[in-house]
Amino acid sequence: PLVLGIESSCDETGVGIVRGTELLTNTVSSSMEEHVRFGGVIPEIASRAHLDAFVPTLQEALAEANVQLADIDAIAVTSGPGLAGALMVGVCAAKALAVATGKPLYAINHLVAHVGVGLLQQGTGTATSVSTPPAGSPPETLPDNMGALLVSGGHTEILRIRSITDDVELLGSTIDDAAGEAYDKVARLLGLGYPGGPAIDKLARTGNAKAIRFPRGLTQSKYMGTAEEPGPHRYDWSFSGLKTAVARCVEQFEARGETVPVADIAAAFQEAVVDVITSKAVLACRENGITEVLLGGGVAANSRLRQLTEQRCSAAGIRLTVPPLSLCTDNGAMVAALGAQLVMAGVEPSGIGFAPDSSMPVTTVSA
Ligand code: ATP
Ligand code: MG
Ligand code: FE
Repeated sequence: PLVLGIESSCDETGVGIVRGTELLTNTVSSSMEEHVRFGGVIPEIASRAHLDAFVPTLQEALAEANVQLADIDAIAVTSGPGLAGALMVGVCAAKALAVATGKPLYAINHLVAHVGVGLLQQGTGTATSVSTPPAGSPPETLPDNMGALLVSGGHTEILRIRSITDDVELLGSTIDDAAGEAYDKVARLLGLGYPGGPAIDKLARTGNAKAIRFPRGLTQSKYMGTAEEPGPHRYDWSFSGLKTAVARCVEQFEARGETVPVADIAAAFQEAVVDVITSKAVLACRENGITEVLLGGGVAANSRLRQLTEQRCSAAGIRLTVPPLSLCTDNGAMVAALGAQLVMAGVEPSGIGFAPDSSMPVTTVSA
């Protein structure tokens, strides 16, 4: 089926078009620049930016894929989780398109859509905004017990996918800040600007990660328990204590009148984040019989996260897939990809009566 996917849960307005598992186009417009001076995504600004960007993004996508709206078999839209006002724009646009064209509409879970990209093959369309696909062609279907490690500005989660259309489970997640959010907050503290991830990633290369040891949240035995008797947060993360530890460390250098070793702090912070993300993700996979895992979300761009995930997965005998970065960050193609899976599985469309749900659970693949 030819499926149009719409994404507007955060600061990216995305329209993607797929034919089954074939990617025809992935057009994205981001309002990131408009949030720079605030040091984080401002929901109201993101919503307005979606309103401005939606129609041009849709037109560009249709032109790139060389299809007409009338050719589309189904429309899929991110219904949650995400920023309520931002979601509203994409959902309203999708409903209007569905009514105007008479096509079925699917209300899609954003997090599950991040996993759906694992099925996409680059198509024959002139998809100029798509980078090269990973080595080896993606599978026609996902394995029946697959893990997904999603790390972004809004999420840090490890999912188990038994069936992408109807059986997704949350194994662990952050209990406070997302990893990308921690990068952004720490970068601000170190005077590195926004977004903080790329800046810390770059600076950390010149620092000594062992100069300072920052805490690994939720790794004490009372949180971990044992494999037989898991603690309350065995597969969960916490990054707010780490952010506080960095702030205190900076204060101590300043109080002593010493130069703050910004590069060492960036490297030590990054090591703490990446160490705890990868160790808990691999633990969750091992203890749940998961032998294939997909890494997604904007923080998948992080060089150290990629490196350590590869190392630890390979040591544990877990096959790792990292989609091209343009498909890891928020986009419409992932929404279209999941929509196509739902159509092919014969799942009933959502109708047009649904409302976006900013805290939609992963167990709800489509509303
Ligand atoms: P969502 O959480 O809904 O997926 P988002 O817009 O918050 O959306 P993304 O756009 O996927 O998240 O990613 C942006 C985040 O990724 C920012 O927090 C940014 O700092 C972080 N990031 C980007 N590049 C890197 C990098 N090289 N290292 C670490 N973090 C990075
Ligand atoms: Mg974003
Ligand atoms: Fe996302």
